[in-house]
Amino acid sequence: MFTMDRRSLILGSAAVVAASALSRGYAQAPTGPYKLDPLPYPTSKNEPSIDAQTMEIHRDRHHAAYVNNLNGVMTQQPDLAKRPLLELLTDLNSVPEAVRTTVRNNGGGHANHTMFWQIMGGAGGEPKGDVKAAIDRDFGGFDKLQDQFNAAGMRVFGSGWVFVTVARDGKLALVTKPNQDTPLMDGQRTLMGNDVWEHAYYLKYQNRRPDYLKAWWNVVNWDKVSERYSAAKAGTLTI
Ligand code: MN
Repeated sequence: MFTMDRRSLILGSAAVVAASALSRGYAQAPTGPYKLDPLPYPTSKNEPSIDAQTMEIHRDRHHAAYVNNLNGVMTQQPDLAKRPLLELLTDLNSVPEAVRTTVRNNGGGHANHTMFWQIMGGAGGEPKGDVKAAIDRDFGGFDKLQDQFNAAGMRVFGSGWVFVTVARDGKLALVTKPNQDTPLMDGQRTLMGNDVWEHAYYLKYQNRRPDYLKAWWNVVNWDKVSERYSAAKAGTLTI
């Protein structure tokens, strides 16, 4: 079973590479069917904070399942496949009720994980430039952001996410969401976020979510976060 999964993923990856020109920057391909973007670094890149096996299972199984489920909806609802994912998530009430929960969970999951892989694979450290200035202004400093973010991540009961949202004027805010919900559903944009589902950390950290939350900062790619911040201010940040 494992071999089959791997083979289908490998076969699928050529199409993903071909499609990557469509999803350059931070805009997703304009319409479905949806694809997993190539991971921009090896699965071992986030070691030791996030182990390679967790990265593999998380992306190749969990994220892939969200993409597959979303594409399953699109085969039943071809009109939905013509609309950008951002639009569907922003206006879930316009999605037919029969598939609304599936789009919410799997479309949200696809958007959240696409963002998540982008902003990891880095060297951690301190934020830079405009993002640092915004963090200082809106949270009172990077240490305070980390404290508030990690505390918020601890308060998520069960599965969910902790996000920093970014408004068009650059203002940052902390938001948590259950399940695969995303601030996009409230018309907001996500600067960065951390996945606090157990599948994101259980192999290495078991029940120790605080240790995971703390270690995750070691792999944040602040250059990517800065790019997302600039895109948000330019109005081009999607998912
Ligand atoms: Mn996840």
